[in-house]
Amino acid sequence: MPPVIGVSATLKDDTETVAERPLGRFVRADLDYVQSVVEAGGVPVVLPPVVEPEYVDPLLGGLDGLLLSGGSDLDPSHYGEEPLPEMGPTLPERDAFELALAGRALEVGLPVLGICRGLQVLNVLLGGSLYQDLKTQLGEGVLEHRQKTPKCQPVHEVELAGESLLGGIAGKDRFAVNSYHHQAVKEVAGDLRVSARSPDGVVEALEWRDGSRWVLGIQWHAEAMREAGPEQRRLFSAFVEAAGRGSGRRAA
Ligand code: MN
Repeated sequence: MPPVIGVSATLKDDTETVAERPLGRFVRADLDYVQSVVEAGGVPVVLPPVVEPEYVDPLLGGLDGLLLSGGSDLDPSHYGEEPLPEMGPTLPERDAFELALAGRALEVGLPVLGICRGLQVLNVLLGGSLYQDLKTQLGEGVLEHRQKTPKCQPVHEVELAGESLLGGIAGKDRFAVNSYHHQAVKEVAGDLRVSARSPDGVVEALEWRDGSRWVLGIQWHAEAMREAGPEQRRLFSAFVEAAGRGSGRRAA
């Protein structure tokens, strides 16, 4: 049985109208996440952000791995800060769902891949904090992390920090990535360590500190760069392989 990978989805108000009424609110996941899982040999399951805690365990019970997808800013109350004016829109239902889901996924030992916001969810869940807006808080020395060009195009490099899960997957110590974030990791959670930074020092990847778990967060959108380099595709194949190694637990 191929491993089943949950892909966290967001909520989106549809701006399209029928008879002058908005169509409503939709559960939405970028097809690139879904396709990345499929190409890596996994079975993707899109997870709607249903906040009731009683749904978390049944949802997780059917999964071998969890992919936390990108999206809007986390509410800074989750890391004990007041919002700055430069913070972007937040989605409380999604924050609550993903923090609960990721927390249980770590408790039961599921492999977790966090992408962009997903990396930030992992860090905040485990007690770390975020820059609410890189340009405001880090000033002139910071690179452009919010590119205007297509997501398939790299804009800055990442430098890997020594031996790591990420380094083993990538097989190289630097490569180019895209960048679609205005927030980033500030204080790193105690259970995590930095495995890549951009040349300006911004954290671009985190993983489990002692390497005992397959938990990886990346700040770039690897799902949109699958044609850009084998290291981007290997992130998904390594994740799905790790999920497959644990998939016996689901059947048991
Ligand atoms: Mn970046």
